[in-house]
Amino acid sequence: MSLLAPFAEDPADSRTYLLNNATAHRYRSAVTESVTRISAKIAGTARPFTGISVDGLTPTVAGVDLDTPLHDPAAALDELEEVYLRDAVYFHHPRYLAHLNCPVVIPALVGEAVLSAVNSSLDTWDQSAGGTLIERRLIDWTADRIGLGEQADGIFTSGGSQSNLQAMLLARDEACRREPTGDDSPAGARLTDVLPRLRILTSECGHFSIRKAATLLGMGAEAVIAVPVDADKRMRAADLADELARCRREGLIPMAVVATAGTTDFGSIDPLPEIAELCDRYGAWLHVDAAYGCGLLVSRRRELLNGIERADSVTVDYHKSFFQPVSSSAILVRDRATLRHVTYHADYLNPRRMAERRIPNQVDKSIQTTRRFDALKLWLTLRIMGARSVGELFDEVIDRAADAWKLLHDDPRFDVVVEPRLSTLVFRYLPGTDPDPELADRVNLHAREALFASGDAIVAGTKVDGRHYLKFTLLNPETTLDDIATVLDLIAEHAGSFLAEQPRPALSAR
Ligand SMILES: *Cc1c(COP(=O)(O)O)cnc(C)c1O
Repeated sequence: MSLLAPFAEDPADSRTYLLNNATAHRYRSAVTESVTRISAKIAGTARPFTGISVDGLTPTVAGVDLDTPLHDPAAALDELEEVYLRDAVYFHHPRYLAHLNCPVVIPALVGEAVLSAVNSSLDTWDQSAGGTLIERRLIDWTADRIGLGEQADGIFTSGGSQSNLQAMLLARDEACRREPTGDDSPAGARLTDVLPRLRILTSECGHFSIRKAATLLGMGAEAVIAVPVDADKRMRAADLADELARCRREGLIPMAVVATAGTTDFGSIDPLPEIAELCDRYGAWLHVDAAYGCGLLVSRRRELLNGIERADSVTVDYHKSFFQPVSSSAILVRDRATLRHVTYHADYLNPRRMAERRIPNQVDKSIQTTRRFDALKLWLTLRIMGARSVGELFDEVIDRAADAWKLLHDDPRFDVVVEPRLSTLVFRYLPGTDPDPELADRVNLHAREALFASGDAIVAGTKVDGRHYLKFTLLNPETTLDDIATVLDLIAEHAGSFLAEQPRPALSAR
């Protein structure tokens, strides 16, 4: 059997392509070919991106005839080089500084290879067996690190947005159950009766998936109250107290407070103990969105998460600060009984009698049905490199962010917003000492776009008080302070050439 052309014998025979006992050697050669190419690609990546435009790439992808197969993995991979690999965005590159995407650890990629070939589906025991037990061990391990207690449970999800959605669903149905009814119904109030009065409180810097969740859950985005933040972008507990009191006065039901442990823009961590106190007082569900900050669970800065153990539910994104490939996320809950709000029984899949016989069907806890065995990646990560090594990687990028903050702080070309707790830096280029705000916006927007188009580095952008800023999200321990200094120089260069091209009035306006 040719190693390079595993399907050459009979490319027209459909069954050649199925993975089974007779074709395992073909699987091996096809996948080995792809892994060989990707490893060469990763080793030879000089820039995070080529800078190609949408218009530049669209015709290449559109030009592929999907109805004329190549029958040859090598040929398809050659084509893929053109349509994808050459111009892909490479997160492992030290000058990729944009979004919350991490370089991935090799043990997790071993897991990825295994899980897609075996293809377990974690909805039921009879489709996964040991996969279910592995996922449950990791849920218990994570809940234990958080300190959620004996009754904790949870489930792997596709990402933080899904974890947040499920948390809000549980919080909504719990609020409904607790709401008194005229006839003292044990099931609580009818959802349709309380829906208009439900409110979710989260900080102004909370993630937008909370608003999306509110919409999907029938409350509308208006049900989310944005609590002001302090100068460090942390939720003001005093303002939360005021909002909770106002809800009570107005007959509204504060069904959940969402505290963020690592806001997406600033990495700020809301004051968890004070917020937990207020949730106790008002009977509100405390959800901690630690999609970004979860890496602290294994870092030497664990104390930054103090108070998280009082949460009713927690979102963790292993695909952010645990260096796992997309997707790998989980929602954890303090009280496993609350997961019943997503339990539905289907005769063909997870009949009630199975639950009675204590057969573990994970679908009973999930809003998905067919579900990837993403947990295997984390399992092999813990078994091969260990939690402490993961934490060291995260600690290193946090250290780097602290150094980079000093660099930015001392550089008169830039204005930096808050001293980082985690690994993001929000800053902007200053066109002069007292710049015209419009011009400052335009020059920063331009610098970011020009940098992206050059492919030399990728940075993110966001708004602060309505103004355009740039953002570094550091998740790569290979990014040095030199890399960061180089990128700042590149930004200043692009900004400088933009300013040089401005007509005089724009410059003299200040
Ligand atoms: C990234 C992020 C999310 C969303 O997670 P996804 O995995 O992208 O769906 C939610 N909350 C916070 C704070 C995040 O940073």
